[in-house]
This record gives sequence, C-alpha cells and structure tokens, in this order.
Amino acid sequence: MTNANATDRTIDPLALRHQIFGDEPLRVRDTDHYTQEYVGGLVDKWDELIDWDRRAEGEGRFFVDQLRTRGVRRVLDVATGTGFHSVRLLDEGFETVSADGSPQMLARAFRNGLEHGGHVLRTVRADWRWLNRDVHGEFDAVICLGNSFTHLFSEHDRRKALAEFYAMLTHDGVLIIDQRNYDAVLDGTAGGNRTYYYCGARVTAEPHHVDEGLARYRYAFPDGSEYFLNMFPLRKDYLRGLLRDVGFQRVDTFGDFQADYSDGEPDYFVHVAEKQ
Ligand code: SAM
Repeated sequence: MTNANATDRTIDPLALRHQIFGDEPLRVRDTDHYTQEYVGGLVDKWDELIDWDRRAEGEGRFFVDQLRTRGVRRVLDVATGTGFHSVRLLDEGFETVSADGSPQMLARAFRNGLEHGGHVLRTVRADWRWLNRDVHGEFDAVICLGNSFTHLFSEHDRRKALAEFYAMLTHDGVLIIDQRNYDAVLDGTAGGNRTYYYCGARVTAEPHHVDEGLARYRYAFPDGSEYFLNMFPLRKDYLRGLLRDVGFQRVDTFGDFQADYSDGEPDYFVHVAEKQ
C-alpha cells in the first residue's frame, strides 16, 4: 500500500477509533475531514450498511455492462471503500487498481478481496487531489461510486479531483461517477428509498441536517451505535457542468440506473462521462 499524501499530519490515536466532529459538527465542512470519518467503528460497520448481496441485486449488471460495451479492460476504482466494486469487477475479469484516501477502508477492502473470491487487491492509498502523483499508469475507466465525490467541500477541490481523474484515463476513456439525488433532498422532495445503495435492512440512514453547503447524515445500527458523515450536497446539473468543464465531451446521466426518469424521483444519479 502506498502511503503518501501531501495532507498527512501526525495522527491522534483516538482518531483512529472514533469519529471526531468537535463541539460544532455543523461547522465541519472540510475536504480533509473524510480521513477522520472513515475510521474504526464506521469501517467495521460499513459492510452491514451497504449489504453486499442486496447491493449487487439492486445494481444488477449496470456498471459491468457500461464498461463492457466500451471495451474497457483496466479500471481504477478511486473510492474503493471496503472493496465492493473492486471485487465485483475482478470477479468479472477486469484488471482493477483500488485506490482510496482512507487506509482503514483500504485495509478492510484488502481483507474482503481475499474473503470474496481470493482476490489480492492492488491497493493504493491516494487522495483524489494528488491521484496522478500516487497512482501510475493509464486506465480505460475510472469509477468513483457510492456517493463518494460528495466529500469534497470546495469547488477548487472538485475541479482538481476531476482533472486528476481525467488525466488518469486513456484518450477514449470513461469516468463513471455517482451521487445521491441531493436536489430532491434540498428541495424537500426526497423519498428516502434505500433500495439501491445503502441496503442494510436494519440500518437507518437519514439526513440529520441539510443546507446548501452541508448534508450531515446519521447512520444508526441495530446495536444502538450511530455514526455521521458530513457531505457537500451536490446538485445534479452542477456536477454535470463540472464534468463538461474539465473536458469530458459527452455526459449521460442515469436515474437509479435508468435512462428515463423524472428528476425528483431517483435516489441516486450515475453520470457516465466520455473523454471523446
Ligand atoms: N465506493 C465505496 C462504496 O460504495 O461502498 C465507498 C464509498 S464511501 C461513501 C466514500 C469513500 O471515498 C471512502 O472510502 C473515503 O475514504 C473515500 N474518499 C473520500 N474523499 C476522498 C478523497 N479526497 N480522496 C480519496 N478518497 C476519498
């Protein structure tokens, strides 16, 4: 596992086990903070939250088909988390490199790879903002899934990360990036359906606070434990615009994996952005 990051600081041992949001959690609106959110307990609980079997059922062959129809062989999973998509793609025969900025998530992904099919994941600890420094080679596809891009809190960081994704791709490569339907959350029309992504039957995932600059979600588990994530509520057309701005020529957006949808309905959007 590569361990290099321009934002590295001395780590408080407590912060390896517990999420730390301080006295004013609603003021935590910081791109670097994800490294203090995906730690200890939440990492242990993540697979209960996403439920691999139900998630696989919900997604079906959507991502595999998107990649196959474009002749993709090499995939860079930039938001590996606990490895769900990396493992899925390895099962399907894609050559996959698994990156993430959280060493604890990557360690769990590595273990999951071994346990789900005996895959030895090629893991790289890398922050998206310095991806090209830490991950080498060219990829036919970059995937950034599970509502991960929402962790970037400034437009500068979003543009920087997308430019880094773009640069990792071959001349005709594709970026597949998804997001929660924050328009519906911000505009008060969200249904709260968890069918596709956060599928754990007995886990509650709900907005704790939402404004134009912060979506703070609470995740409650049957054992009484609870965790939080502070995220930036990306609007769909804003993200589509950024994808065009950094150079993607064609951006197709799906709502809950369907090409036909009306804006308020889907829980999640998936953007498929082609370089040429
Ligand atoms: N893709 C996985 C899934 O769907 O289960 C994980 C999704 S989780 C919501 C977001 C992941 O993105 C975390 O593992 C986190 O460490 C990673 N992440 C967030 N911001 C990042 C950044 N700036 N650079 C690299 N990884 C980041």
